[in-house]
Parts: sequence; C-alpha cells; structure tokens
Amino acid sequence: MDFNELWKAALGEIELQISKANFKTWLQNTTIADKKGGVVTIAVPNGFTKEWLQNKYHKFILRSLRNLESDVKEVIYQISSQNQNKEPVKDKKSDKEESLTIKKQLDFVELNVDVITNLNPRYTFDNFVVGSFNELAHAAALAVTQNLGRKYNPLFIYGGTGLGKTHLIQAIGNFVKNESTNKKIKYITSERFASDFINTVRSGSLKQSEMDDFKRRWREIDLLIIDDVQFFGGKEKTQEEFFHTFNILHNAGKQIILSSDRPPKSIQNLEERLRSRFEGGMIADITYPDLETRIAILKTKAGERSFQASDEIFEYIAQNIKKNVRELEGALNRLIIHYRLNQKELIIGEVKKSLNSIINTPKKATNLKSIIKTVAEFYDISEKELIERSRKKEVVKPRQIAMYLLREELKSSFPFIGTKIGGRDHTTAIHACEKIKNKIESDSNLNDEINLIKEKLYLI
Ligand code: ADP
Ligand code: MG
Repeated sequence: MDFNELWKAALGEIELQISKANFKTWLQNTTIADKKGGVVTIAVPNGFTKEWLQNKYHKFILRSLRNLESDVKEVIYQISSQNQNKEPVKDKKSDKEESLTIKKQLDFVELNVDVITNLNPRYTFDNFVVGSFNELAHAAALAVTQNLGRKYNPLFIYGGTGLGKTHLIQAIGNFVKNESTNKKIKYITSERFASDFINTVRSGSLKQSEMDDFKRRWREIDLLIIDDVQFFGGKEKTQEEFFHTFNILHNAGKQIILSSDRPPKSIQNLEERLRSRFEGGMIADITYPDLETRIAILKTKAGERSFQASDEIFEYIAQNIKKNVRELEGALNRLIIHYRLNQKELIIGEVKKSLNSIINTPKKATNLKSIIKTVAEFYDISEKELIERSRKKEVVKPRQIAMYLLREELKSSFPFIGTKIGGRDHTTAIHACEKIKNKIESDSNLNDEINLIKEKLYLI
C-alpha cells in the first residue's frame, strides 16, 4: 500500500470508532507524510490538532495502522502547512508561532493548584473585572487584604452561579499568600470540609489523636476561606464542628471568608447560632454584570489568550449571554477553538453559527443514562466499564468526568453519583468532581473536551 491508501484504510477504521463530528474536526486534512523503520509520520494542519491527536486519538490511530501493517511501531505527528485549509488565510500563524502558543498552553497546564493552600494561582485581583455588579464585594475583598482579621470578619460573599465568587475569594487568598509567606492560608469548599471531618470522625472513634489533629489543623490557620457554604445546610455534626472552629479563629483575630449562592438567612437547615455568626461581619452580594461590563470581561479574557476579534463580535456575545460569566468565557473559548481550527479571521456570520447552540437552543433535557452513554461513547469505552467498580487506568478519567457532569448538569447528590458510577461512596464522588473542576481551570484541553461532550449531550 502507498501512504495514501494506507491512511485511507486506517481512517476507514478510525471513523467507525469515534463520532462523526470528532472525526471531521480532527482527522480531515491529515495525511501520512512518511513511514520509515516502523515509524509513521502523520502530517496535521496545526498544533492544536496535533495535541488532540496525540492526547486523545493516538491509541486508535496506532491500533488501526498496526492492524493494516504489522510493522508499524510508532506514530508521530508533524505540523505541515500543506495540510492547512485551502481557503485564503489571513493572519496565519507560522509553525513557530503556533508551537509557541501550544507551549504556552502547556506551561499553563502545569500551573497547578497549590497543594498547601488549595489556591489556584489563576484567580487574582489583576484579572478580576470590576463593574457595578460586583463593586461592593470587590471593595470588601480588598479591604480585607489590608486589614486581615480586623475589619470585615467574616466576609460573606453571595451570588448566583458563575458570577465570580470563587475567583474573588481565591484572589484574596493569593494576594495574602504573595504578600506574606508566614501566614497560614487555607481554601476549601464546604463539602470538602464536611467530608474531611466525617472521615476523621470515623477514624477518630478509634484514635482520639486524629480528631485532635484535625482540630489543630483547622484552628491554627490565619486566613480560612470556605467556598459554597450553602452545602453546610442539613449537616449537623459538621456545623457543630465548624462552629467551634469558627469561634476559635474569630476570637483569635484570624480572618474568615465565606461564599454562598444565597444569603445566610436563605440557607436551609443552618443552625441559628452559625447563621448569626455568618451575618456578624460584612455581607456583600454579586449581582449580574451589565452589557458594558460583559464586553469588558470578554475583552479581558480574549486579551489574556492573545485572541482578537471585532467589537461587533464581542457585543454580539455580550448581548446574548447575560447571567453568567462562566458562560461568557465558554462562548469565547468556543470561538477560539473555531478560529484555531480554521485559521481565518472571524466574521460575525460564522460567530453566530458557531454560538448558535449556546445561545439559541433550549437545553435538551439530559439524564443519568444520557450522560453515561455520551461519556462512554466519547472515550470509546463501554457503558459497563464506565459504571463498574474497577481500577482500570483508562476508565479513571472518563469516570471522573461522568461524575462531574452528573453534579454540574443534573445537580445530583454525591451519594447518588457514588453509587451510580463506580459503586463508591460519596467521598469518591466529591473527590472526582473537585478534581475535574480544578483541572478544567488550568487545562484548556480538558476544558475543550468537556465542552464537546456537553455539546453532544445537549445537541443531538
Ligand atoms: P462562582 O464561584 O460564582 O460560581 P467563578 O468564580 O467560578 O463563579 O467564576 C466563573 C468563571 O468566570 C471563572 O473562570 C472566573 O475567572 C470568571 N469570572 C467571574 N467573574 C469574573 C470577573 N469579574 N472578572 C473576570 N473573570 C470573572
Ligand atoms: Mg464557585
């Protein structure tokens, strides 16, 4: 077989194993450039495609080539300008620039959550856009950094999903961390706090020292940031423990910062004494950004990723996505992917088409079954493998993603997620959801992957 025939036959096999959309997106415009000593070189149009093929489809490609010619040992990917789209290309990046961009992305991936503080370094004041919707919360956050434990204590920030609560409270943590190395800072979600506590209680019944250790760990902190405290609702034992921790820290003049999706008085099943503690400092809400601010946010985010587009395009997105900064970012990410794949200047018509599914389609109802099916299909594993209790390496990530989607898209409870996927308890589910959530922040490939899965979930 010559290269052409070999690749055609291999693609024929690969096509059967992955979705049509993925096949079209990642494998069209690829060719075999060389085959020597068992090493096949695949030419790809850009660095982005190279990354994807390497990270996600390598196994399929290698397997199908091997099935056809048993001497194939290795596959490598090479960016080739000949494989780029045929349309006239404006503002095309050279291969060198392209690989620089990819390198930047990889560096970014390595920028990870700090293991001691749990803070993600990407959340800073510098990249937090301030508008009237979050002015008060922002001012209070700044004031706290200047008067740690002395001014607004606790600082309680509340507001709807995707409006910047986590960003802002972590920005405080990162600021303090960079200012003074001797301060003990801890960021944690209320759910993680609860599960750590429960685990300690369980083992603590055997060993008192573990419980003491738990208490000591939490009570020696200078700045404690607890995210999403609405989830303390209904957890009586955890509330009790947290109440004591809170008092000890507060009395010692240590700073406490809390976030929630609603004000303290609306948190169901929260002990009265804890509620009054939450209300005892400063409460600031975050509302919805106005059009100007939404445009400013988009431009800031685009700038961070060296992406340019016309004002018309930014305005179009901002006019259509109003209630969630995370969704604004999602729309922008989609345009960036679109742009990288096509390497053409974006025009508004294409933007509308590309964002159509986010903006105009009402979300199709999804459920446990469709999430399992879609994730299994996406990663080419069987549904059974995905939900079974096993430690097979290749199913770990898909399983975590399925758990994450159940949580984010269906608001399923952690015990439910644990039993339905992997037959595990709630702590495994919490861990999986947090891991994916944190990883998405720094790993743009994973973010894109999950966006594609969501698209499948809601579109077809
Ligand atoms: P929440 O915790 O309120 O659900 P997040 O803090 O996770 O929201 O914000 C969602 C996304 O939107 C994050 O990527 C965050 O960086 C971004 N974001 C939210 N508000 C702002 C803002 N004012 N400026 C810049 N980015 C923001
Ligand atoms: Mg949050």
